[in-house]
Amino acid sequence: MDRFSIGKIAVHRVEEWCGTFSPPAELFQGFREDTWDSHRDTFVPDYFDPLSGKLVAVLQSWVLDTGEQRILFDTGAGNDKDRPDLPIFAHLQTDFLGRLAAAGFQPEDIDTVVCSHIHVDHVGWNTRLIDGAWQPTFRNARYVLPVRDRDYWDPEVTTAGPGVIGRLVNGGMFEDSVRPILQAGRAEWADDGFEVAPGLVLHARPGHTPGSTVMHVSSDGVEAMFVGDVVHHPAQIYAPEWNSAFCEDADQARETRRQVLSEAADREALLIPAHFAGAHVARVVREGTGFRPILSSAL
Ligand SMILES: [Zn+2]
Repeated sequence: MDRFSIGKIAVHRVEEWCGTFSPPAELFQGFREDTWDSHRDTFVPDYFDPLSGKLVAVLQSWVLDTGEQRILFDTGAGNDKDRPDLPIFAHLQTDFLGRLAAAGFQPEDIDTVVCSHIHVDHVGWNTRLIDGAWQPTFRNARYVLPVRDRDYWDPEVTTAGPGVIGRLVNGGMFEDSVRPILQAGRAEWADDGFEVAPGLVLHARPGHTPGSTVMHVSSDGVEAMFVGDVVHHPAQIYAPEWNSAFCEDADQARETRRQVLSEAADREALLIPAHFAGAHVARVVREGTGFRPILSSAL
């Protein structure tokens, strides 16, 4: 779904990238072949490419137009970024801003940027390269970033810091996509309960990163949850105990995933993850002691 409404709020999906990412056994920590096999056919071809044996993923942003504010949720990988340990997102030259324009928005129209967490594929378009320097892409926007990710990812102050994989794939990310926002005085650091706009509230849901955040949206009795990377792929709705290889705190990430899926099921909220291909959104229903996704594009 590229355009839909949550009550009075208009939502526009803007895609940056779509492709095959990695085999499920490599992405998921705790992967079980028998569990995968029992659901595999559900994912072909939109969420799993049987020819390459790889998962299909997207990088996408969402613009929420409340009538008062235009809010951009997550900013992908960005163009021109030097990513020596993550070649798939290195030196991209996508037409993301052209697609944003096609959705009806110029960069200067965006009032607020919200990043679900500070990771290389969620902060990229925070900045763009102009005359050899990284400048805020959305020059009229405040950038709302999760405060619990701030010190963790800042190479100048981090103490505990990210694990080996996190450190590798996010190399250079803070300097080219977050530091310029701080230096421009555009950052606003948010914690649990931060209200982005009426009906749009950020909830701390740590594990994937310390600052991982879910944005609850409620309008006219309709609910949606922008969950970032709490759920990477619909297989994790069947198997919430599967973490991605990029989850920083494994135990906390599993606990949070179950919590968020429970909330989505109980509130009958539309689940809007960062990387779902196919319909891009899902419903979550309880089944036995677990969950089942509804992935139809006719949501
Ligand atoms: Zn991600």
